[in-house]
Amino acid sequence: MSEKKEEPFSINWLTDLPYRYSMGPIALKFFKELKESGKLLGIKCEKCGKVFFPPRAICADCMVEMTENDMFEMSDEGSLDGFTVVNYPFVDPNTGETRPFPYGYGAIKLKGADTWMLHFVDETNPEKVKPGMRVKAVIKPKGERKGTLEDIPYFRAVEKK
Ligand SMILES: [Zn+2]
Repeated sequence: MSEKKEEPFSINWLTDLPYRYSMGPIALKFFKELKESGKLLGIKCEKCGKVFFPPRAICADCMVEMTENDMFEMSDEGSLDGFTVVNYPFVDPNTGETRPFPYGYGAIKLKGADTWMLHFVDETNPEKVKPGMRVKAVIKPKGERKGTLEDIPYFRAVEKK
């Protein structure tokens, strides 16, 4: 007796869901400054002194609301404190295309920051990565910057072993 496999019932269609996200004054200043000067701005909580990068509006520890006046220029260098190599196809939400792989992805803490940023790293060999190694943000030239996170395509290792 042969088993008849039934095809699952499905309907395929594309849905257009346009939306606008209000980024608020902190993110607005961050992306504007990145686009115009290529500078990376962090933010410092006046109450506890914690430095957030990327900047955010509310201190996660003391719930104090911060303003654009609490923002300042950070170093473009930091430490790579967590790292992985992505080895499988993954759709890039910014382009809708499959991102070429393998690629490095890591938790980066800029000099003077107390928080990490997750971002791409130009290293794909885990043998060459060590915890805390120095990395530097690669920032697109002025004419190519659009005021998005893609203005920082990746971080590159400053020291390689
Ligand atoms: Zn605080």
